[in-house]
Amino acid sequence: MRLDDSALLQTRCWIDGEWRDAASGKEIAVTNPSTGAVVAQVASGGKAEAEAAIAAADRALPAWRALTAKERSGIIRRWHDLIVAAADDLAAILTSEQGKPFAEARGEILYGAAFFEFYAEEAKRVYGETLPSYAADRRLLAIRQPIGVVAAITPWNFPMAMIPRKAAPALAAGCTMVLKPASATPLSALALAELGRRAGLPDGVFNVVPGSAREVGDALVESEVVRKLTFTGSTEVGRTLMAGAARTIKKVALELGGNAPVIVFDDADLDAAIEGTIATKFRNMGQTCVCANRIYVQAGIHDRFAEALAARVRAMKIGDGFEADVQQGPLIDMAAVEKCEQHIADALEKGAQVIAGGGRHALGGSFFEPTVLAGADASMLIAREETFGPVAPIFRFETEDEVIAAANDTEYGLAAYFFTRDHGRVWRVGEALEFGIVGVNTGATSYEGAPFGGVKASGIGREGSRHGIDEFLELKYLCIAGI
Ligand code: ADP
Repeated sequence: MRLDDSALLQTRCWIDGEWRDAASGKEIAVTNPSTGAVVAQVASGGKAEAEAAIAAADRALPAWRALTAKERSGIIRRWHDLIVAAADDLAAILTSEQGKPFAEARGEILYGAAFFEFYAEEAKRVYGETLPSYAADRRLLAIRQPIGVVAAITPWNFPMAMIPRKAAPALAAGCTMVLKPASATPLSALALAELGRRAGLPDGVFNVVPGSAREVGDALVESEVVRKLTFTGSTEVGRTLMAGAARTIKKVALELGGNAPVIVFDDADLDAAIEGTIATKFRNMGQTCVCANRIYVQAGIHDRFAEALAARVRAMKIGDGFEADVQQGPLIDMAAVEKCEQHIADALEKGAQVIAGGGRHALGGSFFEPTVLAGADASMLIAREETFGPVAPIFRFETEDEVIAAANDTEYGLAAYFFTRDHGRVWRVGEALEFGIVGVNTGATSYEGAPFGGVKASGIGREGSRHGIDEFLELKYLCIAGI
């Protein structure tokens, strides 16, 4: 990997303003999913490093929260500016460890940076309130204070952007943080730490401990010092973390799995529906929690939609994320490939047909053909489980009521999308879908100024927007008597 600024490639734990090896001497081999080559050996932290990072965050907390919001804001804003200036290098690191096309990686860097910009601004707007009093000699106030030390655990599908969604509001609020990035993709997190150092973050305010999910995760969850746990990942791990957090009554924010429906009504603009479906289904090779998992198409537009989607998918360019114009890189690992194969085989056995792609790609490794299936139905695994890969199953439907019931028939509730030009239907369906995010006539909704998060088994809490900072604040009631 060629970088203009080679100091962005850091390979040790970042604790209390220092790069540290793991006491155990253990390392994580970070590999490039496109080539299988080892990109870097990264120190694999354990309990000792997690505890040192928590202690550092605890020591740093009083001074950090005592800064004025404007002072914290200035540092966070500088962090944003440094990320934007280093976007090409950061994208190269991201593509090397995760595989997504370089242009998409660059988009992720800028999207992530925007959270630092937004919360640098929002830091200055953590307002309290005065309350009407119940007695003449009393004045009542509600003030909002930082919750304390925050633990963050992030996944590999957005190695960079999932970090600012948590770190930017947490630090803006006056909290300090210990981050455990996914073991597959720790390099983006460590590069961010290096830029945070240059931006002037005081020692211990932001710590990064790559390493064993079990050891580092358990230390973060069990700590009495950590007051908030913010996690993005699978519903299964989210459940475990929430149960663990119960012992210390830690607050949790969980961004978990999804099973997003896309609904295309007969009156949809076909081109917009195709564009939107491609955008939500195939971003990051289908490996996002807001990716379409079930595509419901009304009978009157079904055949035209299926043909047009299959044609677009067949024309996609697959390859190493560093090659020009590549639209789809490899999947993260072979387990991801096997899950796609399992979902396709199950669907074919139950009557679906492949109309584009269908299996492993000739490039080998974890490259997988983007795939479209027709004739999907509710009995198939793909209707119930998140595929987390580039497989688009099409379900035919007849009526609005029928499709709303089908779309809501899932334990998940993160994102949903629908396409229609009927404005009454926009309201009816928008209100009836039991999801935290609903895209209408679009497949791309993410924006730092809007609340992102799920209902049901998709999670608790919101990231982004003015609501995102509330996750890191406690409300305190001051009752002042004797006036
Ligand atoms: P994904 O497959 O999207 O990475 P996971 O939920 O498996 O989703 O992982 C998300 C993050 O959670 C990663 O950083 C992973 O290392 C971490 N993780 C996985 N299992 C645990 C666990 N038992 N305790 C704490 N963290 C965990």
